[in-house]
Amino acid sequence: MFGKILIANRGEIACRVIRTARRLGIATVAVYSDADRDARHVAEADQAIAIGPAPARQSYLSIPALIAAAKASGAEAIHPGYGFLSENADFAKACGEAGIVFIGPKPAAIRAMGSKAAAKALMAAAGVPLVPGYHGADQSEARLAAAAAEIGYPVLIKASAGGGGKGMRIVAGGEDFAAALAGAKREAAAAFGDDHVLIEKYLDRPRHIEIQIFADQFGDCVHLFERDCSIQRRHQKIIEEAPAPGLDPATRAAMGDAAIRCARAVGYVGAGTVEFISAGGEFHFMEMNTRLQVEHPVTEMITGLDLVEWQLRVAAGERLPRAQDQLDIDGHAIEARIYAEDPARNFLPASGTIRYLAEPAPSAHVRIDSGVRAGDRIGVHYDPMLAKLIVWDRDRGAALVRLRSALADFALIGVRNNLALLRAIAEHPDFAAAAPDTGFIPRHPELLAPPAVAPAREALAAAALHVLARRGAALAAQTHASPDPASPWAARDGWRVRDQAAEDVHLRGEDGDHRITALWRGEGAYRLTLPDETTMETRGAWDGERLRLTLDDRQESLRVIEAEAALVVLAESGEYRLHAIAPDAAAADESAGDGRVVAPIPGYVRGVLVVAEERVARGQALVVMEAMKMEITLTAPFAGSVGSVAATVGAMAEEGQALVVITPEG
Ligand code: ADP
Ligand code: ADP
Ligand code: MG
Repeated sequence: MFGKILIANRGEIACRVIRTARRLGIATVAVYSDADRDARHVAEADQAIAIGPAPARQSYLSIPALIAAAKASGAEAIHPGYGFLSENADFAKACGEAGIVFIGPKPAAIRAMGSKAAAKALMAAAGVPLVPGYHGADQSEARLAAAAAEIGYPVLIKASAGGGGKGMRIVAGGEDFAAALAGAKREAAAAFGDDHVLIEKYLDRPRHIEIQIFADQFGDCVHLFERDCSIQRRHQKIIEEAPAPGLDPATRAAMGDAAIRCARAVGYVGAGTVEFISAGGEFHFMEMNTRLQVEHPVTEMITGLDLVEWQLRVAAGERLPRAQDQLDIDGHAIEARIYAEDPARNFLPASGTIRYLAEPAPSAHVRIDSGVRAGDRIGVHYDPMLAKLIVWDRDRGAALVRLRSALADFALIGVRNNLALLRAIAEHPDFAAAAPDTGFIPRHPELLAPPAVAPAREALAAAALHVLARRGAALAAQTHASPDPASPWAARDGWRVRDQAAEDVHLRGEDGDHRITALWRGEGAYRLTLPDETTMETRGAWDGERLRLTLDDRQESLRVIEAEAALVVLAESGEYRLHAIAPDAAAADESAGDGRVVAPIPGYVRGVLVVAEERVARGQALVVMEAMKMEITLTAPFAGSVGSVAATVGAMAEEGQALVVITPEG
C-alpha cells in the first residue's frame, strides 16, 4: 500500500478521499488554488501545496503544477477525485511518466470512453444495446440535421466530450435544430475544448440506472449493483438511490453483465460506472464514466464497502477484495446533493459566504460528505456542489423517512441553495409511491418556487427584537461610543430606545408587509402589537445570533442571522426570511424595471448578441455569459431599443454590473 498520496481535487471529494486514506494510515497531500487557501480540504490534509491562481485552468487543471506538487511532496500516487482531470488521459499518462501511480484506469481506457461517440461505436461492437442515434465523424450541420430527421424528433444533441449535463440540447423539431446545434457546440467548446456532438433519440420518461463496476490488474471484474439517478435537473443528478426501486433480479443481472462487458472491452482497471438509460422495459448504454462517481456513497451504504479503499488497493496492485458471489445488497440508501444554486432562477449557481451551517448528526443511518464549513466563501470558479447527505435503512420507505428528518435538520444560510427543493421532493407523494423518471422535476415546476409562507409569530417577534436591539446598539454607539458599535448585543437590556414610548418596526416577508408597534417594557422586554391588533409580550436574551425568546407564556430558542440582504430566522417551526425596512425607506422603494440588464453573478461574457440602437423584443437574448461552467443567457426585460452595450466578449463581468441598457418602446 502507498505511504502518501496526493489528491488532485478540492471540496467534498477531496475531504472524502482524505478520510479513507487516514483510516488506512496513508499520509495525504492536498492542493489548493489561491481561492482555496482556507478551504476545508486544505485544513484536513496532512500537508497542502499551492498550485496556482483561482481559475481552474491555472490550478486544478494544470498538469505540470500537479505533477510538480506530487514530486515535491514525495506522494507515490495521485487520486483525481471527479470532475477536473479525473477523466483526462493525458494526465494519467503524465503521472505514469513521472513515476507516480494514477489512481484510476490506464490512459487508453480513459481515452476509449472519453468520447461518447467512440464509446458507443465500441459498445455496439461488444453487443451492448444503444439508444438509437448518430455518432459519426461527419460533423457538418447538413449531416447532423439529416441524422436528426432520420432518427425522428424529439432528439437530444450531446457533446461527445461532455459530462455534468453540459453541452446538451433537446430539440423538438427541425426548425429549432440549427440554433440548438450552435448552442450545444458553443457550450461544448467552452467546457471541454471540443465541439464534437452526437445525436440521440430523446426518450420519453426514461430512468437513469447505472452500474458500479470494479476491476483489478489481474483481469478480475465485478459489479456492485445499480444506482437509480433519475431525479435530475438540467440533465444532472440531484438525488440518487440504491438499489433502483422495482428493478427485478433478472434485469439487474443482465445490466451487471452488460456493464462488465463494457469494462472488459477496454481492459478496464479500477472504479468505473456504466450509465444506462431505461425506457419501456429496455435498457441502453449511454456512457461510461472512468472514475469514482459523485453518488458512490449509496453503493457503499448498501454493500458495507469503502470504494475509495478499493480504489487504493487496486491501484497499489492488490486483488479485488471480494468476488461477485461475495457481494450482496443490504437495505436501501438515498443521497441528496446540496448545491449552491437557486432552483427558482433556473438553478443559477449562487455565490456568497456561509453565515450559518447546521448538519444532522451522523449515525449508522445518516452520513454527511461535505466540503464546506461555516464562514467559507463560495465563489464562482468551481462546481457549486457543497455537500451530500446520504441515508440508509432496511427498505426504501424507511430510508425516505430518514431522508426527510435529516433534511429537516440541515440549515445552510448565506448562500442560496437547493435544500427547500430537496425537502419538497422527499415529501412528494409521487416520489414516495413509485420509481421516478428523469422528467420528475420538469413535471413538477411548483416545487421550484415554494409558495410564500407567512412568518410564524415567534419569527416576527424575533426579527422585531433584533431590529430593536440593533437600533439600541446604534444609539448607544452615538451616545457612549460603545466598544463594538456594530454589535446589537452590546447594549441590549435596560436600554430605553429613544424617548418615545412606542416604536415602529417594519418587516417585509414573502407574504407581504408586517408593521409592528413595539412598546418598551424594561429589561429587554417589549409588548409587540401586530397589524391585526393582537399583542405579544416578549422578552429576549441574546447570545450572539442565538435568541432565547419568551413569548407570552412559552420560551423558545431561535437564531436570527443577517444574510442574503435579509434577516433569516431559524425557529423550531421552520426558516423565515424577513427584510427590515428602514423607517424612511418606503418611498424610495422599488425602482425596478429601469432597463439595466445586469450580470446576475460574476462570470465571463461569451457572446454579445445585440448592438446599440437595435430594436429588441421582450425576452430576446442579449448576452451570453459563462459562470460556474454554465452558460447563462441574459434577455430583454421588455421590448425597446438597445441604449448602450457595455459587454465585451471575453471580458469578466462583476455581479450586478450593467451589461446592456434597454430603453422602453415609445
Ligand atoms: P455525471 O457526469 O454522469 O453527472 P456524476 O454525477 O458523478 O457524473 O458528476 C460528476 C460531476 O460532478 C463532474 O462533472 C463535476 O461537474 C461535478 N463535481 C461535483 N463536485 C466536484 C468537485 N469537488 N470537483 C470537481 N467536480 C465536481
Ligand atoms: P453526461 O455526460 O452529461 O452525464 P449523459 O449522456 O450521461 O451525459 O446524460 C445525462 C442525462 O441526460 C441522463 O442521465 C438522462 O437524464 C439524460 N439523457 C441522456 N440521453 C438521453 C436520451 N437519449 N433520452 C432522454 N434523456 C437522455
Ligand atoms: Mg452521465
